[in-house]
Amino acid sequence: MRNGALIDLVSSFMDMDRSAVEAIDEEVGGLFVSRFLQRRMAETIEGRDSFTREAFRQFLLPGLYTEVDPTNERPHIVDGYPTVNNSYPNSVALMVTRTCHVKCTYCFRGDLITSRQTHDSQAAQAGIDWIKSHPNVSTVLVTGGDPFTVPAEQLAHIVESLVSIPTVNEIRIDTRALTVKPSSVTDSPEVLDALGAAGGKVWFYSQINSAAEFHPDVDRAIAAIRRAGVPIVNQAVLLKGVNHTPVLMREMVYSAIRRGIRTDYIYLLDGGAEVDSPFNVTDDDIRAIFSELWSTNTSGLAKPRAVYVDPTSNTKAQLLVTPFEGNEAAFDKFLADRRRKYSRRDVDGASS
Ligand SMILES: *Cc1c(COP(=O)(O)O)cnc(C)c1O
Ligand code: SF4
Repeated sequence: MRNGALIDLVSSFMDMDRSAVEAIDEEVGGLFVSRFLQRRMAETIEGRDSFTREAFRQFLLPGLYTEVDPTNERPHIVDGYPTVNNSYPNSVALMVTRTCHVKCTYCFRGDLITSRQTHDSQAAQAGIDWIKSHPNVSTVLVTGGDPFTVPAEQLAHIVESLVSIPTVNEIRIDTRALTVKPSSVTDSPEVLDALGAAGGKVWFYSQINSAAEFHPDVDRAIAAIRRAGVPIVNQAVLLKGVNHTPVLMREMVYSAIRRGIRTDYIYLLDGGAEVDSPFNVTDDDIRAIFSELWSTNTSGLAKPRAVYVDPTSNTKAQLLVTPFEGNEAAFDKFLADRRRKYSRRDVDGASS
């Protein structure tokens, strides 16, 4: 099960003892990263590119969540329909696979994610039928795992089936494929054709956290999606060592803008400043990032929303984007409230 070559690669890439990497491998239940990223790691060891090294921590360091199902989605899986997550009334997250090209350290479904092929086309079809018979569902998130691990013909079929449901307005494909395995996009003509024929209903949701994730192969995959007429929207996760400073975050947001990709939101990880995690970003860093992004220094197109999971309701909540100057007090209140709620959850957890 242990991938010795990958452990060696990570150990030289991160400048860590092999035994430390073995311990991480154990802790995360077996490291895996796509061949594409492994090649990029091997290339950047030579150049001692610390920017890339830091950016790749998100795939290599131990898990943020030891907790299973930190966003409480499993109670919302519809009985008898394991692919249908109906957490929000008018929207479904259709979980078409548990397979992924990588294992991100912050994955909410980390305990389910595997590098083995797990796509079950009957279960996916049952999910599509469920959506068809629930006309109130207007938003569908095609997710996993990574939808781009699903064989291209089957993913194309899923997209076409969803597009043809008249009550569905909006189909989002949630994927990291662009930057972790761009060939899974460029080598899937069936999927690109289905996107090209979707007539505006499909949105491509990427998940890019660092400017270092861009690469010429990534640009080719972006161009293919844009040629199909599908808009690309980015969702980033705020991560220490990856994008936790105003400079790093600005680089990421503007590198995406230059490629026609708007970062819709930055996800503030569950846990706030109280959880002891390698990815814990301090309130001061959060304040510095948003003061920069929401100031008049930054183009409106490059102003992401801030989104977090409200720990008392377990739903996503957001701060509305407003020019930052003059709003410092509102932002401080947000950080203080968030911290207070997390503390209360800790107390509740301890007493139950
Ligand atoms: C995030 C999420 C959505 C979409 O929320 P938006 O605010 O529309 O981006 C829908 N369903 C589930 C289960 C989600 O986690
Ligand atoms: S790409 Fe998404 S599903 Fe895959 S490990 Fe990362 S967060 Fe989880």
